[in-house]
Amino acid sequence: MDSQPRRPFLTGVIGEPIGHSLSPLIHAHWLQQHQIVGHYVPLEVTRSDLAAVVNLLPRMGFRGVNITIPHKESVLKICDSVSDQAALIGAVNTLTILDGEKIHGHNTDAYGIIQSLKTESQVEGTWKAEDGPILVLGAGGAAKAVVFGLISDGAKEIHIVNRTREKAELIKKEYGTRISVHSRPALEHLVSKMQTIINTTSLGMEGKQSLPFPYDELVAKTVVLDLVYAPLWTELLREAKKRDCTVINGLGMLLHQAALSFKHWFNILPTVDVSLREAVLSK
Ligand code: NAP
Repeated sequence: MDSQPRRPFLTGVIGEPIGHSLSPLIHAHWLQQHQIVGHYVPLEVTRSDLAAVVNLLPRMGFRGVNITIPHKESVLKICDSVSDQAALIGAVNTLTILDGEKIHGHNTDAYGIIQSLKTESQVEGTWKAEDGPILVLGAGGAAKAVVFGLISDGAKEIHIVNRTREKAELIKKEYGTRISVHSRPALEHLVSKMQTIINTTSLGMEGKQSLPFPYDELVAKTVVLDLVYAPLWTELLREAKKRDCTVINGLGMLLHQAALSFKHWFNILPTVDVSLREAVLSK
């Protein structure tokens, strides 16, 4: 008797809304590149349905899923276990199903940001978090992953500016003296002293206000990274480019965090290459 054909591997992304997500395109590219028969399914799930849907994933045959806005924090308490990194960041963006039944949470955003900085700063291979002071704008979920990544890579001096100062103070409480918290007017004298500046706020996104920033204080060669990827080239990056800064958009982080998720599911770290970037940019 013929043996049963192997079922395609199932992965996906859970969020609300999910229609805009680039993840299905990114993962389909790697599934095809590695000749893995499988599907990556976008799943629009409301807050009230999250626990029920996540708990069904093992029985539905999923190998794992990504978790995106607005569920990255609330999914923590649904997991059977989480990585130390996800627990410290307080957010999960990748689930893997262990032994066909247990739900394990990871966070791959911190890896994504550091890989993006290391591979895309013009001095490729030489950017290190420990090399100079870093300014982080924002203190939301993405900022927590960014600060974790920077501290793990050896950052000695991180300055945080956020509209809601208390949220920045909470991050400082976690990491101590390597973090300083400032209010917005301090930007005027901080910006020129930074090795790297990272915008983790949603300001500058399509449909949002622009980021208030003292552009004339920017010094040439400063590395400026904006997590926003819609649009790809924000006002912050355009102004920084005019002043000869090294500019990096949010696409690299998006691709690298996805690569580590793929590795969690298939034990293959796929490459973030030009053909993938072109496929995403042409969407
Ligand atoms: P979040 O938790 O909601 O945090 C939003 C941040 O933006 C907070 O610091 C918030 O300040 C600030 N903010 C929002 N509106 C503001 C306003 N009108 N004035 C001043 N500050 C404002 O969101 P998140 O998950 O951290 O995501 C933040 C951004 O990062 C989004 O654009 C997201 O698309 C992007 N992101 C990109 C990647 C990637 O792979 N490239 C990954 C993750 C996130 P308060 O604390 O004062 O509210």
